[in-house]
Amino acid sequence: MNKQALIVGGGIGGLAAALTCSRAGWSARLYEKAQQFSEVGAGIQLGPNATRILAHWGLESALASVAAFPGRLIVRAAQDGSQLGTLRLGSAFTERYGAPYAAVHRADLQDLLLDAVRNAGVDVQLSAAVGTVLSFPHAARLRIDGREIEGDALVGADGLWSAVRSQVFSDGPPVFAGHLAYRSLAIQRDLPEPLRSRDVTVWLGPRMHLVSYPVKRGEQLNVVVLVQGAARAAAAQEWDQAAAAAELQIAMGPLCAPLQDLVQAMPGWRLWALHDRPPMRGADEMARGRVALLGDAAHPMLPYFAQGAGMALEDAEELGRTLSMGEGDDDAPLALRRYAQSRWQRCARVQALSRRNGHIFHATGPLRWGRDLSLRLLGERLLDQPWLYVASGKR
Ligand SMILES: Cc1cc2nc3c(=O)[nH]c(=O)nc-3n(C[C@H](O)[C@H](O)[C@H](O)COP(=O)(O)OP(=O)(O)OC[C@H]3O[C@@H](n4cnc5c(N)ncnc54)[C@H](O)[C@@H]3O)c2cc1C
Repeated sequence: MNKQALIVGGGIGGLAAALTCSRAGWSARLYEKAQQFSEVGAGIQLGPNATRILAHWGLESALASVAAFPGRLIVRAAQDGSQLGTLRLGSAFTERYGAPYAAVHRADLQDLLLDAVRNAGVDVQLSAAVGTVLSFPHAARLRIDGREIEGDALVGADGLWSAVRSQVFSDGPPVFAGHLAYRSLAIQRDLPEPLRSRDVTVWLGPRMHLVSYPVKRGEQLNVVVLVQGAARAAAAQEWDQAAAAAELQIAMGPLCAPLQDLVQAMPGWRLWALHDRPPMRGADEMARGRVALLGDAAHPMLPYFAQGAGMALEDAEELGRTLSMGEGDDDAPLALRRYAQSRWQRCARVQALSRRNGHIFHATGPLRWGRDLSLRLLGERLLDQPWLYVASGKR
């Protein structure tokens, strides 16, 4: 009989893990607390480290049918609009890294993973909120709605506020980062022509930045504004709230005219309060006995490196690889340990760089001056990340 993986959470990480467990010859059962897979969320950028994995899972054409493939990354100053640096994406990136730089709507990525998971015969259960993790770390046993379920391995892919993490790793909740994300999505043809875009554009200002990029084959434009502030929002654990455009205007401060036009043209902003954890310090923070964490449950990060979902996909790929290497009856703890050992350092590095980017993107005074000068002088060399895009598993 196949070994059983119990996966808690049906976000990008949990779906990807269900797929790779199944590809590794395990039987996977996935428990998602929501009644249906939600449309909430907005855009997600995927570097070649992530798109390479999707291609390896046979999802290249499914991705191509929903994604946009931006031509350039352009960095501009938010206050005067000047161009600070550019990085060629598009075919230049595909040639350099053997996989494209893509931008997708989160629901589209979730849908294509869900199709693959269902085709692989994974048992997907909705409205299944995992309450208690029993007898860890020696057993992989859960209680859901009064039922007890046992498997050979338990994967906590239940996101930022992970119940699996709080019970098995008992290291307290994530912390408010002092930053808020406002997100909006527009149909490109509804926007005035000068505001439509096929590129990723990052506008840097004091204590704020804005990122825009196309999704849905380029038909929609995703805009996210990151600002510092508001303890009021920090208190709210529910991280998706209706937010007034007026509040956003105040938080952004003075902007150049094209950026002001873009912010005013975008419909319906939604607000997220950003939380993270300090970078991981060891493999023990990712796996214990028969229980492993994956994605945001393991290493929540600020979105300033655009790699949270990418790291979740990489985790899943590595989990599948280590599970497929198992030979004995009781090798799940060893496989999970190997998974954690090969993943934690790379994820910790991305967590740390995501925090660092927050300081650099929002810089004021001499740091801002130095940043702008470096971008003008070094441009592409500073913006490209070969160490990140070349590797996708171990490091
Ligand atoms: C503003 C912003 C911009 C971002 N931009 C990017 C980007 O450009 N590129 C990128 O790679 N990443 C980006 N990210 C990060 C990315 O969205 C996350 O890292 C990624 O979605 C994490 O996926 P996950 O599956 O680990 O967690 P989640 O997506 O949070 O999924 C967890 C799932 O578990 C379920 N769940 C929770 N508790 C239970 C329970 N007790 N029982 C059962 N189910 C449960 C939840 O309902 C949910 O479906 C961004 C994030 C933000 C906030």
